[in-house]
Amino acid sequence: MSKTRDDHRSATRAVLAGRREEWTSRVVNTPIWRGSTHLYASEEERQESLKYNEDGHFHYGRRGAPTQWSLAEALTQLEPGADGTMLYPSGTAALAGAMMSVLEPGDVLLVQDNVYEPTRSIASGLLKRWGVEARFFDPADHDAYAAAFDDRTTAVMLETPGSLTMEVPDIPHLSAIAREKGACTLVDNTWATGLGFAALEHGCDISITALTKHAGGHSDVMMGAASAGKKHYAKLRHTAQSLGQCVSPDDTALVSRGLRTMPLRLQQTSTSALKVAQWLQQRSEVAHVLCPMLEGSPGHELWQRDFTGGCGLFSFVLSGQTEAQRSAFVNHLELFGIGYSWGGFESLALPFDAARIRSASAWPLPGWREEDRLGIRLAIGLEDADDLIADLDRAFAAIKHS
Ligand SMILES: *Cc1c(COP(=O)(O)O)cnc(C)c1O
Repeated sequence: MSKTRDDHRSATRAVLAGRREEWTSRVVNTPIWRGSTHLYASEEERQESLKYNEDGHFHYGRRGAPTQWSLAEALTQLEPGADGTMLYPSGTAALAGAMMSVLEPGDVLLVQDNVYEPTRSIASGLLKRWGVEARFFDPADHDAYAAAFDDRTTAVMLETPGSLTMEVPDIPHLSAIAREKGACTLVDNTWATGLGFAALEHGCDISITALTKHAGGHSDVMMGAASAGKKHYAKLRHTAQSLGQCVSPDDTALVSRGLRTMPLRLQQTSTSALKVAQWLQQRSEVAHVLCPMLEGSPGHELWQRDFTGGCGLFSFVLSGQTEAQRSAFVNHLELFGIGYSWGGFESLALPFDAARIRSASAWPLPGWREEDRLGIRLAIGLEDADDLIADLDRAFAAIKHS
């Protein structure tokens, strides 16, 4: 065991990746190596070790141990084109760490308008204090995007699909323009992961995922990762080490365990999500279904062109109902919990107000009725899709006359 081969498909990779014999000692999943201090055999060996700052060498707890190296290597092998992966204590820490690794005071960062809300906050808060100017752009307006670059623009922050509203940006096009202008491209690839969207092969330089979601898979651990080719991996590593970023071996083992079944869970939740989305599309209470995997949904063509997989997360927009009706609908759901996050085995529902978290693009989307604006995001878990549909049906019936 166990290097993956180039011709292995992703499910096989997810089973084999990162399980080097020197890290596992031949148990199947990598054991938990706890430790801050590594003892050297002699002062000469300690002196010698100072020459290296590489993955896979014991030095001190912050640089990890086999538990962390194994997960990082597995994630690298699941992100086509990556040479290395840094682990962070949350997805948000990965986003902040990745942005800080490519930006300096005085730089301009272009940020897709519908990114995850904390990404927006990092860009307009922490990075502003750090002397970086964030400019938000509408991912559908390619001319305005190209015009937003100037000679201080060094990086572009993308996410696919956009959080909550789920529009799929044309990443090959956006990243090609960035490259032409000498800027690097970062993408939040949490939704599809490297299994469903080969971000680096579609022109991005750094692919970031919240492992809290699909890799963890059981709503009981927080972690994040950023994967990149050699040049950007070195920057990620240097910045993460400067910030003292590290992850616990216990959490890492949970994520490694989740990773082995991730392809199966992604497949199942995608299938169920599409079934639920198709059902919602027929409902008179629903004005729009925002699910890249669904024909007729915004971004479906780009999803079909660029992605090899989906996941269980999508949104829909109510047809003119009030906020009180939306709250009542969510309260009547029995199988869907009300809560943040997603990618676990259980289904969740989250009302959202998109207009509050965008500044460069319209909500409702162009061409929609003004009253069709209240959204609900569904994270479809591993329950039977027909039970979930029955639950949604009951909740619609309950609010009919409210
Ligand atoms: C949840 C999420 C994150 C952040 O992950 P945390 O581990 O919760 O910090 C980042 N990006 C997207 C798209 C997410 O949904």
